Amino acid sequence: MGFRTKQVHAGVTPDPTTGAILTPIYQSTTFVQGSVDDYMGRGYSYSRAGNPTVRALEEKLTILEGGHDATAYASGMAATVAVLLGLLEAGDHVVIADVVYGGTYRFADQFLSKFGVDETFADADVNAIKAAMRAETRLVFTESPANPTLKVTDLAAVSEITREAGALHVTDNTFLTPYQQRPFELGANIVIHSTTKFLEGHNATLGGAVVVDGQGLQEKIAFARLAAGLVMSPMVAFLTLQGVKTLSERMDRQSANALALAEWLQDHAKIDYVIYPGLAEHPQHELSSKQATGFGAMVCFEVEGGVEAGKKLMDAVELWSLAENLGSVESLITHPVTMTHAAVPREERIAAGISDGLVRLSVGLEDVEDLIADLDAALDRV
Ligand SMILES: *Cc1c(COP(=O)(O)O)cnc(C)c1O
Repeated sequence: MGFRTKQVHAGVTPDPTTGAILTPIYQSTTFVQGSVDDYMGRGYSYSRAGNPTVRALEEKLTILEGGHDATAYASGMAATVAVLLGLLEAGDHVVIADVVYGGTYRFADQFLSKFGVDETFADADVNAIKAAMRAETRLVFTESPANPTLKVTDLAAVSEITREAGALHVTDNTFLTPYQQRPFELGANIVIHSTTKFLEGHNATLGGAVVVDGQGLQEKIAFARLAAGLVMSPMVAFLTLQGVKTLSERMDRQSANALALAEWLQDHAKIDYVIYPGLAEHPQHELSSKQATGFGAMVCFEVEGGVEAGKKLMDAVELWSLAENLGSVESLITHPVTMTHAAVPREERIAAGISDGLVRLSVGLEDVEDLIADLDAALDRV
């Protein structure tokens, strides 16, 4: 079956008691047992361990990513934390790409040492990752394209290095989703999502997911979720199940809008540079075309005049919302340095290519002519 059919139907069967076509919101903390050790064939006990609405989403995401199994979480960060808590032990070492989501950086930087885990932030390129590997490296964490610089990492090459070292390749696939990038086919072992973004897509929920390949990883990660209480709620799972059904249509349109905007920005006199993996000028355009089937809906640029000009632009837009988050049907404009990436020290930010004046766009589902007209009017005022 094709992706579009799967995104609508996978994981969901009509409700056995009523025939409801949508998996109901099983808004229940606990599930009554037949006797002390009889779960009445359903397997549910307490919603921190598992819930039928959440399970439907997990099954859908497993099929869409082509994985072995999945667990869903209260947020993308909860998903990342479950992977790290579930798989690492004191004495382990992890290699983390230097351009990752700001919250991922913050958790690794502030908390891993408390558990006796050592981390190296490596340039997100194959040679730097290879050089950072140690005998005790248990896990390599990548994100491609990365937030917010849109740097692309060769995921197959990183998988190769990781496999040779007997470690696991964990990759955050939030930016492209399984519709545009399939990390398991590139050799990754674990795929992380912030479902908050494109998967749910409507700025309505915070959620996360971890999909694993078939290596007995699910038990350890699900145990961390249960122990730390990182679970997704049934309501969030329900809304995410509906959002995912239109993922391909939204991604196609939002990516087409992003390319049109990137091309328009490139020719604008007041723009210093534009970053979009779909532009031939992007340094990893070829790699990006090889390992993904789309370029996503995120565009970054710097306005001539740096921070001050960027701030003026963000104040002048009207249709675009100045807000954190990304991947929604609403177009959003963000200043990573003061918003999403405030936790990253300036020196490391600059080294990773996150300049002070960088502006990040999450391109939505509106008419691209309107998005361009609004930015154009705002740029006139800069
Ligand atoms: C937003 C985001 C996260 C964190 O997800 P939350 O749902 O906000 O906790 C992780 N990775 C990437 C790439 C993100 O964009």
